Amino acid sequence: MTKNDCIFCRIAKGEIPSATIYEDEKFRVILDLNPATKGHALILPKDHWDCLYDIPEETAAGAMKLAKKLAATLRDRLHSDGLNLVQNNGSTAGQTVSHFHLHIIPRYEGDGQKIGWVPGSSSPQELDEIKKMLTD
Ligand code: AMP
Ligand code: ZN
Repeated sequence: MTKNDCIFCRIAKGEIPSATIYEDEKFRVILDLNPATKGHALILPKDHWDCLYDIPEETAAGAMKLAKKLAATLRDRLHSDGLNLVQNNGSTAGQTVSHFHLHIIPRYEGDGQKIGWVPGSSSPQELDEIKKMLTD
């Protein structure tokens, strides 16, 4: 499945050059053009899916398997101290390219990046209500 107007389809299929650090039949992994840190990479399935809601389970599993492999490579070769996996779905959540991708962001002591959220608060009743909504 390819979309001609999708930049990540074109990169994943090799029609547009990219700094590729890994490739197999199903995935291409490239360096992000606007990296959060040194080695910030994107795992791209070669087939087009907009986001996590749409991808087959085996694509989800394959992406996570690759993330595990690349985590070790980044640690060993770039000497990163930690790693964030980030995966945005929908513009509300910050997705800017509508082709499923998984960010692998190596972290370094004192890198100054802020990746995360503002912690909120929730009462036990609220947690219970939400739990019921999700499980009943
Ligand atoms: P997201 O906000 O999760 O959709 O992330 C999109 C990411 O793709 C951003 O980090 C961009 O810097 C990156 N990006 C966009 N176009 C390219 C490109 N042509 N090559 C490499 N990375 C790109
Ligand atoms: Zn695409």
